[in-house]
Formats: sequence, structure tokens, C-alpha cells
Amino acid sequence: MTARLAVFGHPVGHSRSPWIHARFGRDAGIELEYSAEDVAPARFDTTIARFFAAGARGANVTVPHKAAAHALADRLDEAAAEAGAVNTFVPTDQGLLGCNTDGSGLLRDLDRLAAPVAGAHVLVLGAGGAVLGVLGPLLRRQPASIRLCNRTRARAEDAVARFAGIAAAQRVELQAATPETSRADRPFALVLNGTSASLEGTLPALAPGHYDDCELAYDLAYGSDVFTSAAVTAGARRAEDGLGMLVEQAADAFLLWFGDRPETRRVLEDLRNEIAVKDART
Ligand code: NDP
Repeated sequence: MTARLAVFGHPVGHSRSPWIHARFGRDAGIELEYSAEDVAPARFDTTIARFFAAGARGANVTVPHKAAAHALADRLDEAAAEAGAVNTFVPTDQGLLGCNTDGSGLLRDLDRLAAPVAGAHVLVLGAGGAVLGVLGPLLRRQPASIRLCNRTRARAEDAVARFAGIAAAQRVELQAATPETSRADRPFALVLNGTSASLEGTLPALAPGHYDDCELAYDLAYGSDVFTSAAVTAGARRAEDGLGMLVEQAADAFLLWFGDRPETRRVLEDLRNEIAVKDART
């Protein structure tokens, strides 16, 4: 029987997830149908309930529904509970299990890129849902420090308060800052852009000097080179976008649904080629 899956977002037309999961299914010899479903926030809960009542095998959830999905889940895995956000639903005998694969996906991609994390000073721009999803796994890699720099200070402070216990247990200095207060007072080897500024074609504000010692600048967003180009111009030695994270978080979701983790390296290469060909046509 064909396994039914979907990603729910608003908007969601740009999503690459249907392409990725169709490819994973083909590679694994699993017959599946994975669609992108645009659902307004007011209809999210009923749409998800109906989807699983009809026998769906799983779902992904993206902006702006990750917090609503967290509230809707009957049970949560550790990553989702920690983040307060769910990006993957798995139906179980005990109801809907809410999971979060954003953090594991990012860490896998940072490993692929041999990014400096353990013992490094890390600057994270943004404090939204994506950053909450990746902070726990990042802290467990024991960087020397993580500075969360967000336009809205209260949001950075809330995130620091939420993760203070894990930071203390891992002996990581975790700080909140704003673009106005953050100084280039330490060598940030890794800068992660977890803001959605790239989606608007803009850059998060930051005082000069933060990229002077940057080994890798990484934009969680993909489909724009605004941040990666600016980071290299500002002194970063390398810059990458979040397409690899997208493929890796998808592979972790596929593993939760089918018990089999797809090989991702070729899928990422082919997805980049597919996007390049489409861009060349438009
Ligand atoms: P949220 O809406 O939850 O958070 C947005 C964040 O960006 C907030 O910290 C917000 O700051 C900040 N921000 C938005 N615009 C600007 C701007 N112009 N200047 C400075 N800061 C800005 O979004 P998410 O956390 O869910 O997503 C963030 C990014 O991560 C998106 O680009 C998304 O595509 C990407 N992502 C990528 C994934 C992948 O697999 N590659 C997975 C998940 C997300 P403030 O609090 O001040 O409003």
C-alpha cells in the first residue's frame, strides 16, 4: 500500500521536501506519496487530525506551525520537548508522537562540512523556532561558548533561560545579546544565521569584526546567497547554506517513519543540480 505523507506549512509552495522524500522512497524501494499542504493556522489542528484519521504514515510541519504541532502532539521526543517545537509527526498506538529533527539535521550537516563546534566560540543569529530546535544538540557538542544575538532581546533571553540547565551541565557559556550590544570580543569560529532575514533578501544587523576569525558561516536558510556572500566579504573563510540541513533533517524524519536512514550525500548533490537547472530555466 502507498504510504501517505505530507509537509504542512503556510506558505509551503517553495518546499523541497516532496522532492527529497520522493527520492528517498525511490532509493529505498518504498512506495510513497508526499505532498506539500498549505494550511492556515486556524485549520491546522483539524487538518492534522483528519490526515492521520485517514491512515497517513507521517507528516512534517514547517513555518508557522511548529509550536502548534508541539501543543497538538500526544507525546514528545526529547528534542521536541526541549525545543518547544515539532517538525515531524509519527502516528503510534499511544497517539501522535511529536519529534524534532532540525537539530540532528544541522549537526549532521556541520559534521559533513567539518565545522568547528567542540571547544569553539559560536555566534548564533536569531532566536526563533529553528534556533530553539538546534540549541540542545549544539550545546551537547560542548562549544566553549554560544552567544545568541537576536533583534528582539527578550526572545534571546527567553531562549537562554530555556537552555540554561543544559548549558550548565555541558559547561558551556550561553549568552543573550542584540545587534546593538554584541561586540567582536572573542574569536567566533562558527557563525550560524538562524534568522529568516535571507528569505526577505536582507542581512541581520551585526557590528563589524564578528567574522574576523570565522572558519565557517552557515545560513540555515537556503535559496539565497545574501548572507553567505556578505559573510565571506566580511572575512569568513567559508560559507554554506542550509540545503544540507534540509536533506539531513528529512533523512532523520524518514528514519522515524520507515526505520531506515537514507544515504544523503548523492541526494544533496542531485538536489543542488536540480535547483541549478530550474534557476537556469527561469
Ligand atoms: P521564526 O519566524 O521562528 O524566527 C525568525 C527569526 O529571524 C527571529 O529570531 C527574528 O527576530 C529573526 N529575523 C527575522 N527577520 C529579521 C531581520 N530582517 N533581521 C534580523 N533578524 C530577523 O523562523 P524559524 O526560526 O522557523 O526559521 C528561521 C530560518 O531558518 C528561516 O530562514 C528558515 O527557512 C530556516 N530553517 C531552515 C531549516 C533547514 O532545514 N535548512 C529548518 C528550519 C528553519 P525577532 O525575534 O527579532 O523577530
